[in-house]
Amino acid sequence: MTGTRGAQPGTYVTEHAPCWGDPDFAVADNRWKNGKDLVAICEPVLYVCSGCPYRAACIRQVRPAKSAFDGVCGGRVWLNGVIVSALPDADPSELPPPVIRKACGTAAGSRAHRRAVEQQCPDCEPFYTPAANPLGEADDDTQQLELPCVA
Ligand SMILES: [Zn+2]
Repeated sequence: MTGTRGAQPGTYVTEHAPCWGDPDFAVADNRWKNGKDLVAICEPVLYVCSGCPYRAACIRQVRPAKSAFDGVCGGRVWLNGVIVSALPDADPSELPPPVIRKACGTAAGSRAHRRAVEQQCPDCEPFYTPAANPLGEADDDTQQLELPCVA
C-alpha cells in the first residue's frame, strides 16, 4: 500500500492496536520488490498480532482483499490482497462474513469465498480447500495430496 491508511475515515479502532503507525505493517512499495521481500519484512513483526483483540476489526477496516493491501493486517501477511502468511491461531472467523452467491454450495462457490478472502458460508464449507501459497512455496501441499497407497 501507499501508506494512506491514516488518511482514511473510520480508523479509530486500529489506532489503539499495538501495530498502529509501524511502517513494517503497512509496508511502503519502495521497500520491497517481490513477495519474498515483503514476507521477510513482515513475518518478523507478525507476532505483534498474536493475541491482538483488534484482528477482525483490522481486517474489516483495511479490507485488504479489496484494497490489494501489502503488509501485515489482522494476524496475516498480505501480498496484493492475498494472504501469504498467517499466525498459527489466525481464525477464519476473523475474516469478513461470506457473501452468498449463486454458486454457493459448490466448489466454485467455495473458491469465490476464498478469492474474496471472506468466511465460507455453511453451504460451501464442505467444499473448502486451502489455496496454494501464491509465493510458490506450496510443494508440501502437493505432496500431501498424493498420499502413497501403502498396503
Ligand atoms: Zn457460499
